[in-house]
Amino acid sequence: QRVLLTGANGFLGSHILSELLNRGFFVRSVVRSQVKADQIARDFPSFKSKMDFGIVPDMTVSGAFNEVVKSTPPFDAVLHQASPFLFSAIGNNAEFLDPAVKGTTEILKSIKAYAPEVKRVIYTSSCAAVLNFNAPVGTTPQKVYTEDDWYPITYDEALAGSKADAYRASKKFAELAAWNFVKEEKPNFDLVCLNPPMIYGPLKHTVSNVEDINESNARIYSNFVDSSKDAPLPLNGVHMYVDVRDLAIAHVKAVTTPGAGGHRIIVSSKSISSQDISDIFRKNFPELEQRTPIGKPGTDSLPEGAYTISNEKVKKLLGLEFRSDEECFVDLGRQLLEIEKAS
Ligand code: NDP
Repeated sequence: QRVLLTGANGFLGSHILSELLNRGFFVRSVVRSQVKADQIARDFPSFKSKMDFGIVPDMTVSGAFNEVVKSTPPFDAVLHQASPFLFSAIGNNAEFLDPAVKGTTEILKSIKAYAPEVKRVIYTSSCAAVLNFNAPVGTTPQKVYTEDDWYPITYDEALAGSKADAYRASKKFAELAAWNFVKEEKPNFDLVCLNPPMIYGPLKHTVSNVEDINESNARIYSNFVDSSKDAPLPLNGVHMYVDVRDLAIAHVKAVTTPGAGGHRIIVSSKSISSQDISDIFRKNFPELEQRTPIGKPGTDSLPEGAYTISNEKVKKLLGLEFRSDEECFVDLGRQLLEIEKAS
């Protein structure tokens, strides 16, 4: 099968690319510049004959994807997950919202017009589009979020709010745009939206400086590696997570599972508190003794009744299994220390 993948040079994108290539797919990686395409080619040297590249410098431009979706033989599926997430790269809220929403609409328009053989599109949304960030974290009874939930923020609130509001809303309105497109335009493809919470785990793309670590792992680096033993435990932002490798597998399963079409699917492993992460780092990395906050080892630092997110659907529909906290955070911690040393 031939597939097109946007954002293939990023943290999640490079894992999805790896998973697809290892399963025999031909993949066109769509990135913003030739330099980024060249780096992917260097990161995956043994798959030269199974990949090519498309360059889209600005996905908000009308018709931006018209050329890259054309292929002989044609693509069977498209995975769209390029979207701004690096907070330090964003100047104003529209820089989160525009590429997410317009980029999603543009790629769907191009597929409908120029790649009618595409049977499925997978959009990588987020639990940012699911959770209500205005609700208390802990409640009685405990809140269990499911695929029926949406973050009740408006577009105007997102434009006027914090950067975090804008990022979360960018995922909500891009996902909504995708569902609306399918409903109104009735294209030949069906849609699967995958909604992960925080994504953590080792990096597959080349990162040689701590400044270039992706947003979610950068927060782990600054809070748990580049910190101090006596620092207060960082507040958990979103305390639910998924390992990037499990999420990459979910993306491939979303391509290959016929019954997934038309579904919004949360891909969340479990809850992890700041204390849990500190405990794993302190147990496995003696060199972090003075640098990882101690907190109160072995206790639960989350508020009572902290919400959870159901993963029943992804287990049932895609048969997904999740690896352990230790595997995720030990592999990540080791790599963060390596990147730090090389910086
Ligand atoms: P990265 O920052 O590592 O990757 C983002 C990708 O999107 C890169 O390829 C980047 O390209 C591209 N991108 C960013 N801004 C733009 C833009 N304005 N125009 C075109 N392309 C752009 O982030 P992740 O791998 O973590 O994120 C991947 C996807 O997963 C995103 O859709 C994100 O919203 C979603 N997600 C991530 C979570 C996490 O915890 N990491 C949680 C939930 C969802 P370039 O290198 O050129 O900037």
